[in-house]
Amino acid sequence: MPEGDTIFRTARNLGRALEGKPVTAFRSTFPWLMRFDDDTPIAGQTVDHVEARGKWLLMHFSGGGILASHLLMNGSWHLYRRGERWQLAHINMRIIIENEQYQAVGFRVPVARMHTQQSLDRDLRVAVPENDLLRAEFDFAAALERLMARGDEAIADALLNQSVLAGVGNVFKSEICFVNGLNPFRTVASLSREEAAAAIACAQKLLRANVLEDSGDTIVTFRGRQRRTTHASDPSESLWVYGRAGEPCRRCGEAIRRRIQGVDARVTFWCPCCQPMPDGSDVDGT
Ligand SMILES: [Zn+2]
Repeated sequence: MPEGDTIFRTARNLGRALEGKPVTAFRSTFPWLMRFDDDTPIAGQTVDHVEARGKWLLMHFSGGGILASHLLMNGSWHLYRRGERWQLAHINMRIIIENEQYQAVGFRVPVARMHTQQSLDRDLRVAVPENDLLRAEFDFAAALERLMARGDEAIADALLNQSVLAGVGNVFKSEICFVNGLNPFRTVASLSREEAAAAIACAQKLLRANVLEDSGDTIVTFRGRQRRTTHASDPSESLWVYGRAGEPCRRCGEAIRRRIQGVDARVTFWCPCCQPMPDGSDVDGT
């Protein structure tokens, strides 16, 4: 699943190609989007703004429509110059937005709907900017209160909860817990206020570091002794624990553990030595 940093970079790239320019063609395989287009043609309108909110990508059109798409596991937005060959087969196309220079193509986008500002404000699944770790509007104090309110939940699950914090996905979840020395199976209630605040600050720092202009597409939380100039072919090379089950911890050498966690059965990685349970108990993993 794309994490907040991926959506952020996608919105930035689409924005640069589309914002302020008139749309010359719009097509979609979603009948409800084509019905909207029949009533209020997108072609001829201008793309005012493209923004990321957590895992949602929002495209604001000058006619007032807001196209909200969610990529879930397999969706992606590609940007092509006109006439450029697509990297995925046409059968995967769900939405195309064209201007004079570019084609933005949504491939295998599973969720897309056209909102008005009012219906968007009512849609509770779409994060508000104040909850998004990558937005300037991010409200740290409010996020800390929401996190602290998840008392019985494991910290790793609470970090993934997009109504608490928008932007953290499964890779960052394990990385944030490791960097803060927090066992991912600890309940939020077992964390001090300082520990919870440090986890949020770390989430913000790691996500922001991954949306710099030169960040590339691979998530990087670990750079080794020297800053890497090229990205390794194995994504786990640039991470502390994610994808590294059985391999030695980069800090202490203990074998990294892996376990399925939470109601959504997401995989979690941690170091039993650097991230102990407060009572000294052991959490099994492979
Ligand atoms: Zn360790």
